[in-house]
Amino acid sequence: MVVMLPPHCYVCGLDLRDVPDGQDLSSTFTLVHFALSREAEAAQEARARAGWVGHLENAVWFCNGHVELAQALAHLHWLEAKALIDAELPQRP
Ligand SMILES: [Zn+2]
Repeated sequence: MVVMLPPHCYVCGLDLRDVPDGQDLSSTFTLVHFALSREAEAAQEARARAGWVGHLENAVWFCNGHVELAQALAHLHWLEAKALIDAELPQRP
């Protein structure tokens, strides 16, 4: 079973507290799955079979404003994608 971290946009830091009451969270945040190395993917599958519970390292939350940027990079390894996002947005908080 996979337990997800609460939504928190990787780019701008938007999280649950920033969303007005009553607004649909599932339409505000999207969990983007980036690529993994073959070894990491195999390790994840092995952990899942063993009943491991946790947040996948390659699954990252993005808000509506940044999900397109994330999805454009989703074919990349998650570390590479995060590095590119960091380089593109150097002045974020
Ligand atoms: Zn954002």
